[in-house]
Amino acid sequence: MSKTVEWNAEFGTGGTMICKCDSCGKEYKFKFKSKPDYKGCGQKLKEKHGWFSKNYDGQWYDLCSDECKLDLEDKLYAEQ
Ligand SMILES: [Zn+2]
Repeated sequence: MSKTVEWNAEFGTGGTMICKCDSCGKEYKFKFKSKPDYKGCGQKLKEKHGWFSKNYDGQWYDLCSDECKLDLEDKLYAEQ
């Protein structure tokens, strides 16, 4: 899952959560004040931007579109 959290340099001021499409690398950033809201951000991406998560061989991938899903599957299966 490509969700990374960058904390602000000043302790206790929150940070930014960066969600990245595992296929094309498109990013969305969500600022937070105390704790990163993984669930809420996932929900927003899903509802507003059409993102979804998919599991391949026990690993989760975040994808922004059906094209990205197909691209990722091409990549995954090409490696085998
Ligand atoms: Zn994508």
